[in-house]
Amino acid sequence: MRIDVVTIFPEYLAALDLSLVGKARTSGLLDLQVHDLRTWATDRHRTVDDTPAGGGAGMVMRPDVWGAALDEVIQGPGTVLVVPTPSGPTFTQETAHAWAEADQLVFACGRYEGIDARVAEHYRAAGVQVREVSIGDYVLNGGEVAALVMTEAVVRLLPGVIGNPASLVEESHGEAGLLEYPVFTRPVTWRELDVPDVLMSGHHGKIARWRRDQALARTAARRPDLVAALEPTALDKDDRAT
Ligand code: SAM
Repeated sequence: MRIDVVTIFPEYLAALDLSLVGKARTSGLLDLQVHDLRTWATDRHRTVDDTPAGGGAGMVMRPDVWGAALDEVIQGPGTVLVVPTPSGPTFTQETAHAWAEADQLVFACGRYEGIDARVAEHYRAAGVQVREVSIGDYVLNGGEVAALVMTEAVVRLLPGVIGNPASLVEESHGEAGLLEYPVFTRPVTWRELDVPDVLMSGHHGKIARWRRDQALARTAARRPDLVAALEPTALDKDDRAT
């Protein structure tokens, strides 16, 4: 997969050299490039913004600069152009799975009051898959952190990125529709708190049942909306609300 991030703060994306995303880049599983938007500015001050049409506070990012950048960076019909914005629908694990199938993701990181709305409109009309998405109901200073969040969520789903693909199966927000059960490791007793006996029993069937019950209880307590959204077929005969 190829990922391109266009930003006025390329240094913000330095974290993409680290950990699993960094390894995916060095192993060739991921071709990730970060571009400085100012490269495409045409005046000697390398200006990327201007005052809002209609007046008001702040500055808006210019469509001509973004257009020049995106014309060069977008590779073809398999590209998803992601425009992070607090006014979009929320990015979810389902979105991450869908984008993991794309040939290319391009993140257009806004700053100030955001990017002139004609940019998304233009590329959508040109047949590009444009996704204006939020990472949550709060406002950040720019799209860079959102691009980091979404890149990590997508890249860890690419085949070969996570050493043991089984790690992806029982996760929160996965197919089961439940949050993950609590996890423990050694020491068995820590500050007078014990690892639950069943996890030390070696009885795989009982451990699986306990984990399922814990996942159900945790989801009911923390995210009742997820329980309400479960299909009846998602519950097995031994499931019980605790
Ligand atoms: N005035 C805009 C509004 O109220 O919708 C907020 C602009 S914000 C200060 C600047 C940029 O940060 C946005 O263009 C977007 O790229 C990014 N951003 C801020 N919050 C975000 C969020 N929750 N999800 C995704 N991107 C966000």
